[in-house]
Formats: sequence, structure tokens, C-alpha cells
Amino acid sequence: MAPLLEVDDLHMHFFTRDGVVKAVDGVSFTLEPGETLGVVGESGSGKSVTALSIMRLVPEPPGKVVSGDIRYRGQSVLTMSEKEQRSLRGNRIAMIFQDPMTSLNPVYRIGKQVGEALRLHKGLSRKDAWSAAVELLKQVGIPQAEERARNYPHEFSGGMRQRAMIANALACGPDILIADEPTTALDVTIQAQILELMQEIQAHTDSAIIMITHDLGVVADMADRVLVMYAGKAVEYGAADDVFYRPLHPYTWGLLECLPRHDVDEKGKLSPIHGQPPSLIHLPSGCAFRPRCAYAQEICAKETPPLGDIASGHMAACHFSGDAQFVKERGVLAMRKP
Ligand code: SF4
Repeated sequence: MAPLLEVDDLHMHFFTRDGVVKAVDGVSFTLEPGETLGVVGESGSGKSVTALSIMRLVPEPPGKVVSGDIRYRGQSVLTMSEKEQRSLRGNRIAMIFQDPMTSLNPVYRIGKQVGEALRLHKGLSRKDAWSAAVELLKQVGIPQAEERARNYPHEFSGGMRQRAMIANALACGPDILIADEPTTALDVTIQAQILELMQEIQAHTDSAIIMITHDLGVVADMADRVLVMYAGKAVEYGAADDVFYRPLHPYTWGLLECLPRHDVDEKGKLSPIHGQPPSLIHLPSGCAFRPRCAYAQEICAKETPPLGDIASGHMAACHFSGDAQFVKERGVLAMRKP
């Protein structure tokens, strides 16, 4: 049977006056029901463009899928009609954005906005959509949902707005929830509550989640698999345990070193990745991570490392990831299993 979602060697480029921006440049992954995929990388790594491409929300032009495919239950979303894509969006695949204030309309009541998808996709009457919206708000933990449904977005706190956005996304019972930095604007306590809520929802609905984040810590407890992206490419991909506890790529080591750790002694200190991500128009030759990589060798400037299967399903795009000695001696403390 075809996977629930299959992104197959996707290349989404933007054709600008300054040149071609290779925002997504050969990304592949699959997603099954009930599974959580963490997509991790710095700003500009291509993770959000990957999500927007799945939703068919990238404006074309300037964007264009130059090659590859995105399949939902075996059917290419790229060849679907506009009507089919609209039905897929919100109905079968829903997205939760980072900042609910920009996604919620300030002039409509929360209840109306949460019920809107049900009117659009399920043909519910205004009254039934409102009742269903109140139920959804209860489900995501909004207290006094009947009254709060009558509020406008500015009358909700940041955490409550994010809960309302999740209720909105859940309205039609989607198979796939794509959450793009859903907790970045929230403080850590509310962040933990929102992540817990998403896990509870997943346990009840068996929906798949794509969690996009710049912070590996956010997906540490919930991802089944992790895709690490850099400069539009996948640089490491594998089971979460492999990526966290046996990371193979210097960029992943850098991301792990940025994480506050509770499982190491006081000698473990945070160290940011030096330098900036490269311009996606003028990429460095060979490995795009080379200017920031402490382990770069001559070959790194000459040849782009392919994403290779290093250890049964654990993939990395570094010339030396297959060298056990190199990985062992890297001097980076990978997360230990609790
Ligand atoms: Fe570093 Fe070279 Fe590996 Fe790239 S290929 S991550 S530059 S060691």
C-alpha cells in the first residue's frame, strides 16, 4: 500500500531577478499514519518551503517544482486540479502556523473561524459549525468554551490562540497535521502544554504530524523520525533515536551542541554553530556546510556529498559519516538515552 505521504526528490526553486533560489533541492521522506516526523534546521534551510510545497501554497511564479513529486496516498498532489488541492488542504492535510495572530482574522469571533472549515469542506450549517467549533475548543483545552468561542483573537492569550489554531486545524479530522514552529512564540511552560496537547490528539486520532522546528529539543520527545535540513538539502535522516544518540553529520552535532542539556555535568557547555547559512543563490562549491564545518577537508570543496545510507535507514550527507573512527572522535557529546 502507498504511504500516507511521500515526498520524492522534491526540488522547489524560486526564479528571482537575482538568480535561482534552490530553496528545496532534492528532499525525500515518507510519512505513515500515527507517525511524527521532525524537520529540523536553521532559518532558510528549506523546511517551511517543503511544508508549503506539500500544501501547494507556494506562489508559482516565482516558485516552481522543477522536479520530484509529492504523493498523498499514492496520488500526486502536483497534478491535482485546483479544486482537488483545495479539498486536500484543510480537509486531509492541515497546517498550524507559528504565529496564530497572523493566521486568525482579528475581526471574526474565534468560534466562527474554527467552524469555517466545517462549513467549507463538510457543508455544515452556521449553527452546527458553531456547535462543532465549541466542541473542538473544549477538546483543545479552552476553558468555558461556549463563552470563549464568542471572543475575538485579541481577547485570547498567546497559548490560547495557538490552541484555537490547533482546533481550527483539527476541524475536518485531517490525516496529516503540519506544524510550522508552533511553539516558537510561546514561553516554555505553554510550549510544553501545546506539545503535550498535540501528542494527545495524535494518540486519539492516529493522525501523522510533521513538526517543523529550528530546535532539536522540541522534537526530542515526540518525533519517530528526524530529517535535518541545511541549505535546501537533507543532510541527515533517520529514526529519532539514531539522529539523537548516534548522529552522523557535523551539522547535526552543531545543532545538538546548541541544546541545553539536563543529562550532562557542568562541563557540558552550549556552543553555537559559527557563521551563517549560505546564500541559496550562490552556494559554496562541494558541501554547502563546508565554510562552517570544523572537519572540512579538500574533498569537501570539490564534491557534494550525497545523502547515503550509512546504517540501515540512517542516512547522512557527509564524506566522512561512514568512517566510524571519524564519527567516534568527533568530540561531540550526542544525547544519551535517559
Ligand atoms: Fe564537513 Fe566535509 Fe562533512 Fe561537509 S562533507 S559536513 S564540509 S566534513
